[in-house]
Amino acid sequence: MTHRVRPRVAGFVCLLLLIGMARSSDAYLKTSIEDDAGTLVIGTWDSPPTYYVTAQGVPGVSVAALVSAVQGGFDAWTSVASANISATYGGLTNAFPDQVDHQNVIGFADLSGMPGFEDTLGFTDYLLATDSTSPHFFETDIVLNANFPWSTDPAGVPGRYDLQSIATHEIGHFMGLGHSAIGLVQTRADGSLDVVGKRTVMFPIAFTPGNVSDRVLTPDDVAGISDLYPASTFRTETGSISGTVTENGQGVFGAQIVAMNTRTGALISNFSIDQQGSYVIAGLSPGPYIVRVESLDQLDPSSFFDPAGPAVDTDFGVTYFSGPVVVPAGGNVPNINVTVTAQ
Ligand SMILES: [Zn+2]
Repeated sequence: MTHRVRPRVAGFVCLLLLIGMARSSDAYLKTSIEDDAGTLVIGTWDSPPTYYVTAQGVPGVSVAALVSAVQGGFDAWTSVASANISATYGGLTNAFPDQVDHQNVIGFADLSGMPGFEDTLGFTDYLLATDSTSPHFFETDIVLNANFPWSTDPAGVPGRYDLQSIATHEIGHFMGLGHSAIGLVQTRADGSLDVVGKRTVMFPIAFTPGNVSDRVLTPDDVAGISDLYPASTFRTETGSISGTVTENGQGVFGAQIVAMNTRTGALISNFSIDQQGSYVIAGLSPGPYIVRVESLDQLDPSSFFDPAGPAVDTDFGVTYFSGPVVVPAGGNVPNINVTVTAQ
């Protein structure tokens, strides 16, 4: 049995329709769907994927530049020392990127005729095999919206989206990561959202045109990909914290928990992902952390969680855990429990 899922990820406003309603033991939102038995399964690659790039450029981006940007995006993820994942460039193809052909195809497509895609810079499609003992991806495609202005200039070009930055975000989905919420947005007069700042490539909304920051992974991205594909030393060299977020004695679903390393300033986050309000943040370098809990009130919860799942609680204010948390190498600090209050 295979499941075709179109998360329609990334973009300007990056919509992720299938999501990490992860199991309570999981750190990080991952690509997960229900199989026929109703069990949530996590999508990962069980062998290094080969990807193909379409032989079609757009104004400002030659085919060679497209290939280079995609390869740069893959390199960002596969060069993470604490993660054990690689990918191989298979060459150019004339296949349409969003087509079931058992090839992983990445390329531009004209999305102007597709309702709902006007604000989407790109999306990632998954085909997940769930009939084996370990569910895994067997086809993942990335479609980049040819109707936006693009650039591959390493310095960025005003008014043009940086292709490698957007590709890097989509390739995070390609590898199985969901969205992360470490960022600040403001609402424009027309109701659309503008990113003021973010500290994760996997934020659901892209930087403004000309910005090339998302070519480089942040500590949050590194922790996420390492948790999904841990290198042999990852679990022993990093630690984790876990606990619950509650309000009036009830577990809070969909709270964002951010751990800030007070020595390095690194921010790594996850969500409470069950009805008990349980969370785990893994991949933390040993050291002292401040733990902050906040709601997804600025963002669309459906970019993070399945709208058909439990309701995300967004009606509480920022709350800190009382005191620093010292994370050991190879260990978990439990009971970092935070009680939040309705606003
Ligand atoms: Zn996305």
